[in-house]
Amino acid sequence: MAIALIPSLLSAATALGGLIISLVVLHRHVTRARHHQTSMPDNVKPTASFSGNQPAGNGQIENLALLQELQTAIDCDRLALEYQPKLDLRGETILSAEALLRWHRLDGTLAHTGDLIELVEKTSMIEDLTMWVVGQAISDSEKYLDAGFSLCVFVNISAGLLSNRAFVERLIAAVKETDALIGIEITETAVIAKPDKAIANLQLLAAEGVVVAIDDFGVGLSSLEYLQQLPASELKIDRNFIAKLSSSNRNPLIVKATIDLAHALEMKVTAEGVDDPLSLSLLRVMGCDMAQGYLISRPLSLPEMLEYLKSGPYASCDPEAQRAASA
Ligand code: C2E
Ligand code: MG
Ligand code: MG
Repeated sequence: MAIALIPSLLSAATALGGLIISLVVLHRHVTRARHHQTSMPDNVKPTASFSGNQPAGNGQIENLALLQELQTAIDCDRLALEYQPKLDLRGETILSAEALLRWHRLDGTLAHTGDLIELVEKTSMIEDLTMWVVGQAISDSEKYLDAGFSLCVFVNISAGLLSNRAFVERLIAAVKETDALIGIEITETAVIAKPDKAIANLQLLAAEGVVVAIDDFGVGLSSLEYLQQLPASELKIDRNFIAKLSSSNRNPLIVKATIDLAHALEMKVTAEGVDDPLSLSLLRVMGCDMAQGYLISRPLSLPEMLEYLKSGPYASCDPEAQRAASA
């Protein structure tokens, strides 16, 4: 039924392409509440939620203790990364992956990444935490390279850090020392807060070969003015739009129009949160370039990811040839 609707949806989407601006603005009030949905494996007990928004009192004391524990974990290298593969829909292969932070606390629980980042972003510790992630992502990327996979590993960079020149210089210095392919995921909020500094820093990073992807597109503040100024080569459509792709009338219109807009700006498009086969089929028909989500794979540890690349459903004998085919 939904498949039968594809041609009419696509032509309607093309005709309504001009509506993208108002549609995106309509959705700017969609909150980031989805980050509070857990994406953890069922066998791991998450921590009690923590938040930097609690009033003074026990909540704040707990958060301080937690930040102290986190600082020790950073210093002692007791954090971990998982990698979620992104499927290239043209070459049917995995050319890139997103690095996602995991913190197994001393009490055996796994911290909720979204809540943790939200709290740490309110402190200067976000710089050290992000540099730990960058260092680990580079070291793991070198292991992918050694195994014959020139995978581009994307690291999430918090909004406030993008206009911080000292941080950007640390990032550039780290990237310069490696042959690894490193990308960054940023949200537009990062640019809107301090556009001149953020755009200048992004240009420095892009000049060093760092691939820039715009994360969570469609939620938060989506400024088309900044979109065209960013040296970004990839746009990731937020999973809020992808989750209801096959059951909503409007989301396919928004997604198709966003894909066309990104292509007009010479960006590739990744759909986030793809977790059902019908949505993946729709995305292929719409001309989406890449897909990421539980349908393709859950986030994986480094050994699991290496195994997935070698013998998973999208294993490729010659990653370089695949990369060239989909360039
Ligand atoms: P994000 O950058 O949008 O990352 C994608 C999130 O969606 C991940 O959650 C991932 O596990 C989840 N996800 C992927 N596919 C699916 C799916 O099909 N369905 C559903 N329901 N969820 C899916 P995770 O790992 O909990 O991370 C949440 C957020 O935390 C990330 O959102 C990102 O904003 C932030 N984050 C994660 N790692 C880092 C980091 O190292 N640094 C910074 N600054 N932020 C990070
Ligand atoms: Mg991301
Ligand atoms: Mg995202």
